[in-house]
Amino acid sequence: MTWAIIQKSDAERAAATLTDEVREAFTWDTARAMLDGFPDGGLNIAYEAVDRHVASGHGGDEAILWLGKDGARESLSYGDLAARTARFANVLTSHGLKPGDRLFGLAGRVPDLYVAALGTLKAGMIFSPLFSAFGPEPLRTRLEIGEANALITTVSIYRRKIAAWRDEIPSLKLVLIIGDEAPDDCVALGPAMAAASEEFETVHTAPEDPALIHFTSGTTGRPKGAVHVHNAVVMHAAAGRYALELTPGTRYWCTADPGWVTGTSFGIISPLVNRVRMVIDEADFDLDRWYGILEREQIEVWYTAPTAIRMMMRAGKEAAEPYDFSKLRFMASVGEPLNPEAVVWGNEVFGKPFHDNWWQTETGGIMIANTRAMDVHPGSMGKPLPGIEAGIVERVDDGLRDCKPGEIGELALRPGWPSMMRAYLHEEARYKKCFVGGWYLSGDLAMRDAEGYFWFVGRADDLIKSSGHLIGPFEVESALIEHPAVAEAAVIGLPDETAGEVVKAYVALNPGFEPSEDLERDIRGLARKKLGAAVAPREVVFRKTLPKTRSGKIMRRLLKARELGLPEGDISTLESDET
Ligand code: ATP
Ligand code: MG
Repeated sequence: MTWAIIQKSDAERAAATLTDEVREAFTWDTARAMLDGFPDGGLNIAYEAVDRHVASGHGGDEAILWLGKDGARESLSYGDLAARTARFANVLTSHGLKPGDRLFGLAGRVPDLYVAALGTLKAGMIFSPLFSAFGPEPLRTRLEIGEANALITTVSIYRRKIAAWRDEIPSLKLVLIIGDEAPDDCVALGPAMAAASEEFETVHTAPEDPALIHFTSGTTGRPKGAVHVHNAVVMHAAAGRYALELTPGTRYWCTADPGWVTGTSFGIISPLVNRVRMVIDEADFDLDRWYGILEREQIEVWYTAPTAIRMMMRAGKEAAEPYDFSKLRFMASVGEPLNPEAVVWGNEVFGKPFHDNWWQTETGGIMIANTRAMDVHPGSMGKPLPGIEAGIVERVDDGLRDCKPGEIGELALRPGWPSMMRAYLHEEARYKKCFVGGWYLSGDLAMRDAEGYFWFVGRADDLIKSSGHLIGPFEVESALIEHPAVAEAAVIGLPDETAGEVVKAYVALNPGFEPSEDLERDIRGLARKKLGAAVAPREVVFRKTLPKTRSGKIMRRLLKARELGLPEGDISTLESDET
């Protein structure tokens, strides 16, 4: 089925931050002009996100509204944030830490974690966020690879996951514990902050100085440590403004945890640089809580992920009916392919579609997006943001070949955008391999149509070749979730003597449906009708949940390894996994 285009009214187009005129006039100098910088040519993310707003008279504006798990609320102004991040930077320096040192963040979504991220950058140090739910082994590996000098965490995480091997990481000099008390070999943050000065001269880092280390989600294999520099803030500023409609004072909610690149780039830096009022929710996904936040906190711009959207869909439209979403003006999604059904569902429930956008840890910021002024083609990721040149290419013997409109190839970007990763930690050869023939190769397969919209096909690793057909899992999964019983689907290719590979699907069901042979036949029948016999899955199996990363990405490689009895590989980021 092809889905109807969701057209934007003239008023909607005119209200967008990225009008046709703005797009045409855009240069990287325009984006750079959104920032202040230092007179000596220095650039520091934390200064752009916090202190310059105080300097321009906005110290009293709300920066963060924090919602605690248990109903607590805490509001922080830009002035508060400036003072607390200065104290934090002073705490670090007073313990002998220097610019270029690395601090790892390992805590739930609490204000101290956000203060730590920005305070670290103020001190000219490098910040690396981790998921607090990681187990001891994944943590240890990341601290080792990242050569951590400092860590901020909670006493319970420290005792359960770190204490046993802390001494075996020689680089780790300082462990800060959130709260007023700490084990002997750590420092309690509360008293240290209270004793520190609110004055700190932000380090005038150079634009090319490293600022962040982000580990990739580990969906396709062992996570890579991508290094980003302070200049990335140019992209964060522009992408927030143009792809997410972040303007001063906007009430914004990014649901991502800072342990995932989205939760830092667009859950800390981009919103604050654009001087929004952002909501941080400490709790995990809960349908009524989320609808309640959207209504009560009058969220205007909301950035979330397909996995959460599919959970909302699973609960049905009725669950959303009691709530008033009239303040919402823009909704965006990232992280996984957004099924067309989810776009249309959003349009019915919230009165506007989810705007899919595409990027990676390596790109540091949104590259391809459905923006507010663009008609939405459900299932498409949109078009490159201004300043970004994207292409579809095929690797050939002597380099690359450009693909024609409609042809599937690898999604590539022209290097040079400000938030491009500058290295994979300790993996120079792997980093170099990403750049071929004047392009950065993303490892994702996509197609560009005649109108310039980009369509995600699948990760290069996940592509299925069956009887001469190239099959992208996304297409098959989207068809499967159109079945009323199917909530989520994952599709893999299995070796087959005659066809090369055959398609196998794993599905999780909506409430009210039970696995049965009849249902399996019915789902396969629907897929055959929509996709044709060559592409439809040969077999559909039922699962309570699908294996996912902590950032909510389905791990198809794990399903395949298990199916074939192969080693599971790196599962450090695996979250839920019941069969
Ligand atoms: P690893 O590189 O360790 O396997 P990962 O690629 O999942 O992990 P991230 O950088 O968090 O780690 O995710 C980026 C990837 O997520 C993209 O390369 C793409 O495959 C997928 N992705 C992100 N946004 C979209 C989108 N809008 N549509 C389809 N896929 C998306
Ligand atoms: Mg990746």
